[in-house]
Amino acid sequence: MSAVSALRDPAPEEAGREGQRGQAAQSNHTLAAVGAVEGAFFARALTVWQPEHGRKGLPWQGTRDAYRIWVSEIMLQQTQVAAVIGYYTRFLARFPTLESLAGASLDEVLALWSGLGYYRRARLLHACAIEVCRSYGGSFPDHPDVLRKLPGIGRSTAAAIAVFAFGRRAAILDGNVRRVLSRYFALHPTPPGSHIERLLWELAESLVPPAPSLSEARESPEVVTYTQALMDLGATRCLPRRPVCKACPLVTACKAYASGEPTRFPEPRTRPRLPTRRWVFLLVRWRDQILLQKRPDCGVWASLWSLPELPPSAASESSPPGGHAVRNWLVFTGLIPGPDAEFALSEGLTVEQSFSHFRLHAPVLQVEIPGHAKPQVCLSSPGPRPASLGRLHPAFASEPRFRSAISTLDPSAIDWCWVNRHEALAMGIPAALRRLLEAAG
Ligand code: SF4
Repeated sequence: MSAVSALRDPAPEEAGREGQRGQAAQSNHTLAAVGAVEGAFFARALTVWQPEHGRKGLPWQGTRDAYRIWVSEIMLQQTQVAAVIGYYTRFLARFPTLESLAGASLDEVLALWSGLGYYRRARLLHACAIEVCRSYGGSFPDHPDVLRKLPGIGRSTAAAIAVFAFGRRAAILDGNVRRVLSRYFALHPTPPGSHIERLLWELAESLVPPAPSLSEARESPEVVTYTQALMDLGATRCLPRRPVCKACPLVTACKAYASGEPTRFPEPRTRPRLPTRRWVFLLVRWRDQILLQKRPDCGVWASLWSLPELPPSAASESSPPGGHAVRNWLVFTGLIPGPDAEFALSEGLTVEQSFSHFRLHAPVLQVEIPGHAKPQVCLSSPGPRPASLGRLHPAFASEPRFRSAISTLDPSAIDWCWVNRHEALAMGIPAALRRLLEAAG
């Protein structure tokens, strides 16, 4: 009996015992290779199914251009196809070649990425373009192991590029493929997060159709169709909540289907309850201009433009902080000439956003600064700021980040800009801020 056979439970009535036996089998088999007959069925069923039933007409299909394939693979990570298409088209219209992307500023890349989320992808995409130009003469390497060493390219993405651009034999294992394999073989992680990842990779590699010759480097058209089929099956048939099993080419051998409850696989991950962090943003306006601040190049929303925020200690005070804290901040930044200067303050907007490790709840205080002259941020200038420091709210005076900013500030290291709403929406800003500005008018 092959390793895969050992994992199978063909009898639906035995589904209750399936988990236990499957777990035992998983721990007893390394699954170094799938049985030839079963592997051949899996690959054959998919490659026959794909040309007629797979997705067609996606803008990144039908090309062997590694650059375009790479951009699409990065954009599609954790993002739906429908959301990616417009971004992909605009991105390639602006950056038609790897060299054009490498030569662009990160600001411009982030602006085009704005709204797509997971901005780390955009930063690494830019870094990768520079690296490929610098170290590989502007051409992507064709081996998945070499591709994996480039910024932002993981094991599955490297395999997808190697397959679609170079016809290499390589196994992908993205979220959709994990689900297909977990169902087809009825796999449960036991305990959660145990060796299931290794098991899935072994399965994924074992199932890739063999190369057409003894040479592993030789291009394999069947692998291209097979890989596309796996992606298409996960996106159109083996759906997370409502798998369309009756229209699936694997249905006759799928163990999860045989169990009668395909959605039991893979076992849902229990996510820990996320803590809530509270920030307070300031939407500072002068006439039709909005003040934006460039965020640091690490941490949340790294390198994006965003609204300035009150220091954490002030933000954690009353809910929301009163005008006193805002006044101190305006004096500190030099946006108003002194503690008696006028400005209008209003509440009512909120930014809510979930990140991988916390939820953000951020009231937004709207500040209207009057006057004929556009106020300028002058954190580092001598004059009113040091004098006003003594009148700062204790929350600011004791805030280490602000103390340090005052003593070591390099004004060129902090970017501020006044832009109108239209200009702000064309910049690299977080999706949550984009929604806020669109709603705020
Ligand atoms: S038969 Fe159903 S559960 Fe099994 S792989 Fe196909 S769609 Fe997924």
